[in-house]
Amino acid sequence: MQMSPSPYNLPDATGHFGPYGGVYMAETLIPAVEELRDQYLRFRDDPEFKAEFAYELKHYVGRPSPIYHARRLSDDLGGAQIYLKREDLNHTGAHKINNAIGQALLAKRMGKKRVIAETGAGMHGVATATVAARFGMECIVYMGADDIQRQAPNVFRMKLLGATVVPVVSGSRTLKDACNEAIRDWVTNVETTFYIFGTAAGPHPYPMMVRDFQCVIGNEAKVQMLEMAGRQPDAVIACVGGGSNAIGLFHPYIEEAGVQIIGVEAGGHGLASGQHAAPLTGNAKVGVLHGNKVYLMQDADGQIIETHSISAGLDYPGVGPEHCVLKDLGRAQYVAATDDEALAAFDALCRFEGIIPALESSHALAHAIKIAPGLSRDQILLVNLSGRGDKDMNTVARIKGITL
Ligand SMILES: *Cc1c(COP(=O)(O)O)cnc(C)c1O
Repeated sequence: MQMSPSPYNLPDATGHFGPYGGVYMAETLIPAVEELRDQYLRFRDDPEFKAEFAYELKHYVGRPSPIYHARRLSDDLGGAQIYLKREDLNHTGAHKINNAIGQALLAKRMGKKRVIAETGAGMHGVATATVAARFGMECIVYMGADDIQRQAPNVFRMKLLGATVVPVVSGSRTLKDACNEAIRDWVTNVETTFYIFGTAAGPHPYPMMVRDFQCVIGNEAKVQMLEMAGRQPDAVIACVGGGSNAIGLFHPYIEEAGVQIIGVEAGGHGLASGQHAAPLTGNAKVGVLHGNKVYLMQDADGQIIETHSISAGLDYPGVGPEHCVLKDLGRAQYVAATDDEALAAFDALCRFEGIIPALESSHALAHAIKIAPGLSRDQILLVNLSGRGDKDMNTVARIKGITL
């Protein structure tokens, strides 16, 4: 039985999704977070703000992104029909730009001329550098020193766009540490600076605000599925890192009781290996990281565990608070796909459909490929293709033993 919380209107006024979310920040940042919340609530339903956001999404990002029926792949699997929501076709190559534009428009209204961001694989950094150039703002991107090595093309993109990329050498030198450094910058420069956060996590209002901006994905999909198939899909499927592309697709479907919601985490070398980035599937405990209370990969002493995923964009020990409550409510199911399963799905989409997906998105696709053969041919799975695979060429070549 699928339960469908109706009406669904989380978070509450304090930014809580059930027991999750909230604001867990240093005293010095509370006024900044509250100012952000108040300004966002002021502009959220403002017709001019909404019109400008819609204009940018249409003329700059290229929305609506199409939905594509992957017929050859579906035929080969012999079961459910797989449809793809093509966020890979957006300007800058992923869903991240939807949120970056929304936050940049808010920064502009708040009179902030300096924006900062954290980035892992570099996609959110590129999206932020892009909107900073578009709106004439100074841009600083914090990136783990190891990620800078692994994602050189995206580092160069950010620099071409005029951003300063600051290497972070603390901790595991990846996304979590870049987040810490960006928060430190925000504390120091709070008067002038807007922190464009990249996923549906962090202190309130970020999980709500990022979700609202990304909901364009699900809102478009509901209209497009009716046009294409005459009905809504049997399931919507998306990969979950911090959870922004997934919640953007899922949220508009929460009250549609007939639509199953499935989030796919990074299973890495397998859940049993401990080397993964799947807090929801791996039964992680609840803890606090980056300003919010969520399911979090930690050891018995509450220390954050080093995560592993083939895809840098999913390599994060936490997950946004709305996914935590959807899991507890039973409204969404969370599963994991391993590195190997994601790579097989990546190859399948290249060969059957002529689309090179991001390794993150390949996790969502891997789960669709796993369940489609057990379903009937008139059933529909809608997979969010969150990004394109250009950024992953070096990673995939290395795994295949090919020198570029
Ligand atoms: C960043 C990224 C993700 C993971 O982030 P979410 O906030 O979980 O969506 C997934 N896919 C792509 C292509 C990304 O760039």
